Amino acid sequence: MFTSKQIRSSFIDFFKDKGHKFVPSAPVVPTNDATLLFTNAGMNQFKDIFLGLSEPECSRAANSQKCIRVSGKHNDLEEVGLDTYHHTFFEMLGNWSFGDYFKEEAIAWAWELLTEVYGIDQDKLWATVFAGDAEDGSEPDVEAEELWAKLTPLPKERILRFDKKDNFWEMGDTGPCGPCSEIHIDLGPERCDKKHVPGHECAVNAGCARFIELWNLVFIQFNRQPDGKLLPLKAKYVDTGAGLERLTALLQNKHSNYDTDLFMPIIEAVQDITGHKYGSALESKTDNAFRVISDHIRSLTFSITDGVTPSNEGRGYVMRRILRRASRFARVLDAHEPFMYKLVDVIVENMGEAFPELVERKDFVKTVIKSEEESFGRTLDRGLEIFSVAASEAEESDKKTVSGENAFQLYDTYGFPLDLTELMARERGLKVDTDTFDELMEQQRARARAAQKTGSLAMDLSGVALPVTEDDAKYEHDSVETEVVGWI
Ligand code: ATP
Ligand code: MG
Ligand code: MG
Ligand code: MG
Repeated sequence: MFTSKQIRSSFIDFFKDKGHKFVPSAPVVPTNDATLLFTNAGMNQFKDIFLGLSEPECSRAANSQKCIRVSGKHNDLEEVGLDTYHHTFFEMLGNWSFGDYFKEEAIAWAWELLTEVYGIDQDKLWATVFAGDAEDGSEPDVEAEELWAKLTPLPKERILRFDKKDNFWEMGDTGPCGPCSEIHIDLGPERCDKKHVPGHECAVNAGCARFIELWNLVFIQFNRQPDGKLLPLKAKYVDTGAGLERLTALLQNKHSNYDTDLFMPIIEAVQDITGHKYGSALESKTDNAFRVISDHIRSLTFSITDGVTPSNEGRGYVMRRILRRASRFARVLDAHEPFMYKLVDVIVENMGEAFPELVERKDFVKTVIKSEEESFGRTLDRGLEIFSVAASEAEESDKKTVSGENAFQLYDTYGFPLDLTELMARERGLKVDTDTFDELMEQQRARARAAQKTGSLAMDLSGVALPVTEDDAKYEHDSVETEVVGWI
């Protein structure tokens, strides 16, 4: 059986043998892109090459990139724990061609690695290609479709066409872009986790755990013009990404990424500390808490290592939210004292070889997490009581909605990020009145601004606000004012 370490290194060695240079993972905090809160794909560090702004140092590269998907276009936070294969932090194995090889090699090598090196049953694999787009006149990717048929034993029925949403990649409205091909695996009807959803039919890209996406191969071959037209690029690029956790589950014959050697050591430590047992059940509240905690602590460990500390703004607030969610799930496991900082040791032990920066910063990371756990722990239990009363009231009312006043009080006095209150409400089939919450938030900001003007606040309130996407804006209750008038 492959260990996750072997899966990671076999991937990199396979591509090294094919002339690729190992380029270490970039930090989870992008250094070259102010529009991105966290690195969310292996290609991020190569973006300037695709844009023609910098020259590649090699023509072929490969690595395992640390990724975080909790904001912007890619936000998988709400999936975490409720399914078995989306994480906030994950590793994306990737290989790149910078104006060198193209579709033929990318497809042939991906197939060779999966079926010959990893020994995955080829009868379970499916491939997808871009179907074209009537609106912008782009053609289906017949080239890739024919290559899958020619280079692999896949029958035509298992080479499917999908539209833009799944099979076309672009960085923005203009610029380098292109079709992609994905490899999915059919794990069998018993693995569907959407049986209870009316009308659900298992299929590639239907969003159930029967068909899992393993690898995305992007073929960057066009330059989109401001009028929407696609012009061919002179140099063509390959950019691929495969999820290490998903491959590991598959190769270790596990039904869940959490049952692999990437997560089990963390889960076992949580078992030892809390005395609760993990049972892998998707519908179990305590098992879900194990999954969320083991997921979130990885994001926290990697992001603090790379320089983000929990705070009230931008990236720091994203991590504070993650930590507070995890702390709340610790209560589900009856843990009332800080303990998540202890899990850092387990992660470093397991992953420090692949990511040596973890070893270097371990003590710092533990100190930061412990102190965050302590400070939120002081208000968490009282906040949970208040939420419980508010939720019971909402359950009895027609609107089934937790009031904006309650959500704001929880935020302002007890440090509950809005999304945590929303998550707890969802667990009880309730909504939260976010409009009123936003109004109260705005009023508070206005009060703080007025106070600032009259000089009643002596502190320097300047903070570096990061550019945020629309999605993040929702969480951007990061104003420096809050720091002063709020509870922290
Ligand atoms: P999905 O459709 O399953 O959400 P995706 O299409 O969003 O995946 P890509 O952006 O194509 O994913 O990323 C490349 C690969 O990274 C995926 O094929 C998958 O193996 C892995 N991956 C993507 N998101 C996650 C995640 N949140 N957790 C773990 N692995 C992931
Ligand atoms: Mg996704
Ligand atoms: Mg997908
Ligand atoms: Mg994809």
